[in-house]
Amino acid sequence: LALRIPEVLEAVRRATVGGKAERAEFSERLAPERWFEVTAAPVPIRGARGQHLSPWLLLSFRDLTPIRRVEEMRVDFVANASHELRTPLAALSGFIETLKGPARNDTAARERFLDIMEAQAKRMARLIDDLLSLSRIELAAHVRPETPVELLSIVRQVADALQMLARDRGVAINVTAPKEPLVVSGDRDELTRVFENLIENALKYGASGKRVDITLSRGFTVGGGEEALVAVRDYGPGISAEHLPRLTERFYRVDVAESREQGGTGLGLALVKHIMNRHRGRLTIESRPGEGATFTVRLPIAASAAR
Ligand code: ADP
Repeated sequence: LALRIPEVLEAVRRATVGGKAERAEFSERLAPERWFEVTAAPVPIRGARGQHLSPWLLLSFRDLTPIRRVEEMRVDFVANASHELRTPLAALSGFIETLKGPARNDTAARERFLDIMEAQAKRMARLIDDLLSLSRIELAAHVRPETPVELLSIVRQVADALQMLARDRGVAINVTAPKEPLVVSGDRDELTRVFENLIENALKYGASGKRVDITLSRGFTVGGGEEALVAVRDYGPGISAEHLPRLTERFYRVDVAESREQGGTGLGLALVKHIMNRHRGRLTIESRPGEGATFTVRLPIAASAAR
């Protein structure tokens, strides 16, 4: 089957004629597409009486698919990031031009345009900030944070900081926690970022439910280890099943216009996922349209931290 592929046949021909190893790349043109590298190397084999036999070739195949996928993701990511940055930049340039030209002497328009420009500039700053955080967290992905961190204090701090937004959206935040403190090994700033993103999303996208419940509890992993759970539940419109597995992809949004309107960058849940990986924790998302959404963070309770 492999030898019917023109690139492979061509490498075999060149190796036979030239007497040296030849390399080629090809893809199986089936979905999902897979990429391979083939090396055709002549193997000198002598017969029993020392005579050269007709040429032998050793063909080795290497699966390049994972490398290609990473390359594709990198290219997509750069294209997406540039596009996201260009949108607010185009708005800024447009307003600058208007302010220099037609709206030069229009005081009312100037005030309005400056407000929009400020919002766009803030969005660009947030994007760059999120992109930098993502790459910083990825760089440290293999270094597990080791400081003991108590979760309820972080959750309360974040919920307090978001009270303004909650009041603005008419949402009440309720926090429930067990009596004994939940302590995990972690990075306080990164975990703060996780809860900020999850609670802010619940307030922004689930505002119509008027209520956000944050529940801390203690549970067990499949392997029997102890874990701390923090569930952020909203009673908003919910998310349909086909979106759930993709929500943590960079720049993935259910509704791009709504996310932009809310000042979103599309990177929040990607950040949460990366921080969870670094903490050897997990993020699970449960939702049904019309029934709100629950984002649950699970973090292992280290034996030393538990003591
Ligand atoms: P954004 O900056 O757009 O908020 P996120 O990565 O935080 O980016 O979220 C990705 C998308 O997931 C959002 O654009 C939104 O469509 C969806 N989403 C996140 N949280 C919720 C929620 N609680 N309810 C409904 N949709 C949500």
